[in-house]
Amino acid sequence: MSNREKIGPLRTCPLCANLDRKPLFSRDGWDIVECTRCQMVFIGNELTYENQVEDHDWLDDYPKEMQRRKEKHPTLVFLSRYTRHLRAKTNDRLLSQTLRWKTSGKLVDFGCGDASFIERASGRFDVLGLEISPRLAAMSRQRVSAARILEGPVTELAGSALPEASFDVVTQFGYIEHEWHPLAGLRAAFRVLAPGGVAVIKTPNFASWNRRLMGMDWCGFHIPAHCNYFTHRTLAEMLRRAGFEILPRPISDRLPTSDSLWLAARKPA
Ligand SMILES: [Zn+2]
Repeated sequence: MSNREKIGPLRTCPLCANLDRKPLFSRDGWDIVECTRCQMVFIGNELTYENQVEDHDWLDDYPKEMQRRKEKHPTLVFLSRYTRHLRAKTNDRLLSQTLRWKTSGKLVDFGCGDASFIERASGRFDVLGLEISPRLAAMSRQRVSAARILEGPVTELAGSALPEASFDVVTQFGYIEHEWHPLAGLRAAFRVLAPGGVAVIKTPNFASWNRRLMGMDWCGFHIPAHCNYFTHRTLAEMLRRAGFEILPRPISDRLPTSDSLWLAARKPA
């Protein structure tokens, strides 16, 4: 199948449903566009969930992108690997961001990947992971008990299968940029949270200085795996549309030098 055939119909703006857009970048037949009404940045055509699972499993797409980058910028990739070891362990950081708002209760992780985060969080929370990739879900079941992993599109699992108002925390770390229906993903989080429950989100920061500097070589670009590119403004607006109240961010989470955007929001009590 040619790449053109895999690229689905035009996608409306995932934030405001507008069809008017301006192209920002293009690669491998995919266009990254900006909504002319709300400035949301996203991949302008659809990829179906079936195609995502069959042809764009994250386990395959991620190493391809890393290889592409390594060939183009060997020194940068080396440095980024090197500095990664200097940073506090990723899962500890994800957990400390979560503990800022809730210290116990039921937690569901949207897009749990290999479940290393929920394994880390299981000392504090009663955990559940949702994962669309069959291979990552299988890896997750090696790490935590199989009953704690639900496999399938997150919007379907949390949008209907899970009981309503039954969780204290929804974590979305590296999920919302992959979700072809991100507003549905946030509404599903809102649905499963109890009143007063919080959603804690980490996604690439499209407003980062590094993105402006690196252009298409920015670490947040994975095409088509990352189909939504958020700034604080567009993510906060989408959370509000799903019913959430935005929680305050410390200065350390607001730096334009950060490639990660952290945001927490509460379901009104
Ligand atoms: Zn829009």
